[in-house]
Amino acid sequence: MKQYPSIDLGLCSDCRGCIEIAPGIFKHNPATGLMEVIELAEYPDALVDEAIKNCPEDCIFWETDE
Ligand code: SF4
Repeated sequence: MKQYPSIDLGLCSDCRGCIEIAPGIFKHNPATGLMEVIELAEYPDALVDEAIKNCPEDCIFWETDE
């Protein structure tokens, strides 16, 4: 079972606050103009939770791959 962060792009305001908090986890894709979650083997809970807590649109959430 893998836990990973996901972004509801319909809500995302592109403020890039998540990149400031966790630049190793979130990035902006200039080709699509959208935010993305960087593919990692594991995601540090505390950093993702910090990004979730500070996202002004409440659009970052944990997903589980079973
Ligand atoms: S902090 Fe939230 S609203 Fe801002 S860019 Fe990241 S996902 Fe989008």
